[in-house]
Amino acid sequence: MYVHGRKCWFCGHYGLLKLSDKRVWCGSCRKKYSLQKLKRDLNALYYFYLEVSARKCAKELKIGYNAVSRRYKIFRKAIIEYSEQEFKKLHGKLEADEAYFGGKRKGSRGRGAFNKQPVFGILERNGKVYTAVVEDVSAKTLFEHIKKKTRKGSVFYTDDFRSYKDLKQYGKHNKVLHSKTFGKGHNHINGIEGFWSYAKERFHKYHGIGKKNYLPYIKEMEFRFNNREQDVYPLLIKIIRRFAPKMN
Ligand SMILES: [Zn+2]
Repeated sequence: MYVHGRKCWFCGHYGLLKLSDKRVWCGSCRKKYSLQKLKRDLNALYYFYLEVSARKCAKELKIGYNAVSRRYKIFRKAIIEYSEQEFKKLHGKLEADEAYFGGKRKGSRGRGAFNKQPVFGILERNGKVYTAVVEDVSAKTLFEHIKKKTRKGSVFYTDDFRSYKDLKQYGKHNKVLHSKTFGKGHNHINGIEGFWSYAKERFHKYHGIGKKNYLPYIKEMEFRFNNREQDVYPLLIKIIRRFAPKMN
């Protein structure tokens, strides 16, 4: 039986057929899905977009926490795939820096801080930020990302951390004090320090993220930060269509 007046959510064509199990089948893109479930998915996506926690979203939508949590995971995975596919090597003036997430707040701070997860970041001035959850902050580890994600001949700005010592093999290298170039005025908001505070502020809202789960969260922050000047909801819909077709 044809479903009248309704376009396929995935491909936009008319011609949905109702199946006996109540799902619909699209004659154009050949996807089978439940409209009811799709509605729930999109409701959850809307709460995700608003940065409402899975727990709160479950309460609001009166559905189980696990069902919401599973959807949020799918959204984050789709964001990662989208970011990987859309990624263009960073170039121009680049700030490289590391930050530490999670762990106990007290105790040693900064590099090598016990029980914290190091994250490496490279930010293109007036451009995007790239993040990587890393095992360690050795030159070898950091340079792997620099090699893969930046164009040769870029101008790097870092502090005087020893791992950046031989950075000049990838471009011009300027050492700067955090407080001078990283920390003030315009650069503070749009520079790498600005990204770290953006990400950390959000990260603290999520309690008890297991270390194994840091990557999807960090990548979500990266995505939100890189698209902070636009309404990200339509973009999220596009991403879900493209990268989470099996959501249903
Ligand atoms: Zn379709």
